[in-house]
Amino acid sequence: QSSYQVPTKFKRDYYKEIGVTPFINAAGGYSAYGGARMRPEVAQAIRYGTYNKAKVGELHDAVGKRIAEMAKTPAAMVTSGATASMVLGTAACMTRGDKEKIEMLPTTDGMPNEIIIQKNHRYTYDRALMAAGAKMITVANADELRAAIGSKTAMMFWLMANHNPEGDNIPMDEYLNIAKEHNIPTFLDGATMTPPASNVIDACALGFDMVGFSGGKGLRGPYSAGLLLGNSDFIAYAKANNSPNSRALGRGMKVAPEEYLGMMVAFETALSIDEEADFDEKRVKFSRITDQLKDISGLTTKVFLDEGLVAELYLDLDWDQSIIKMTVPEFVEKLENGTPSIRIRMLKFAGGKAHISATVLAEGQDIIVGKRIRDVLMTSL
Ligand SMILES: *Cc1c(COP(=O)(O)O)cnc(C)c1O
Repeated sequence: QSSYQVPTKFKRDYYKEIGVTPFINAAGGYSAYGGARMRPEVAQAIRYGTYNKAKVGELHDAVGKRIAEMAKTPAAMVTSGATASMVLGTAACMTRGDKEKIEMLPTTDGMPNEIIIQKNHRYTYDRALMAAGAKMITVANADELRAAIGSKTAMMFWLMANHNPEGDNIPMDEYLNIAKEHNIPTFLDGATMTPPASNVIDACALGFDMVGFSGGKGLRGPYSAGLLLGNSDFIAYAKANNSPNSRALGRGMKVAPEEYLGMMVAFETALSIDEEADFDEKRVKFSRITDQLKDISGLTTKVFLDEGLVAELYLDLDWDQSIIKMTVPEFVEKLENGTPSIRIRMLKFAGGKAHISATVLAEGQDIIVGKRIRDVLMTSL
């Protein structure tokens, strides 16, 4: 039922009009490739919200309440992405509802403004923790953590993602206990922990005051949305730092009212999806690709489950380069420069292998991908 078809009958072809090259995304829901694709239920909710206006405050409160119920946590809000959840979460901890302080940010004089983070949790997105004016205090062990905590400490941060291959410096239990001992609010970045959507519920149960998620990745909500969930006080403080308040730091992190609805329905739909059925649907798409590649000598195809924090299925393509005379980067380039342009996944940390993702692949595109891969490989035999 949630199987996705690209609607073919649009009155206008906007991309064509303005000269944008369409491409088939066989790489996955990466931000630079337009994120995940929303389920039809989500597009429907957004359409509803576009035409039926409600007062933004009332709508956001009601949506937050519903999301919190589904996540089995006290409170929730829709943000403009996991990055915004981090900015608003730190702003919440520094201002705690004080209107004067809210209007001062990113100047943080007179406020607790230090965010504690573990050494192995420093990552690409941690700039968001400084955006509201906070300073980062990096600690490498529990002793350093205890020594770092003081009257200036605003928040203790935790990264839950496959971004920290070296592991945690301090076990989570101990980290949370130390935070509780000193009454310091805690924040978990769980952005990439989905699917399954039930991981949101599990993340909220870990004991952090706030948990941030991306909406446009595994939850398949609007590209520009995210979630901030947890303690009611801190969610209220975070909201006070956000649009529609005109003098708030987060005024520029506006979320459209229809996206509030879209995010709610995305989470609801993602929770109701049977992961196995979803995998089966992807396996069918992969078989439509591999069926076309069976007789190519030197090629091996294998569907595998990447079981990092996020369970995702990939199709691995591997070939004997003495038979098929082409490197993986050459293969990727040929697919991308062909017609239609096809983007597959080749990640350094996945060993630079050629992987096909069916996450954003629409019905029918699988056939095209199989045909193009066949063409490209056959010309190098
Ligand atoms: C993608 C990502 C973010 C940023 O998410 P947005 O929703 O795009 O703002 C933050 N943290 C981690 C671990 C991520 O993977």
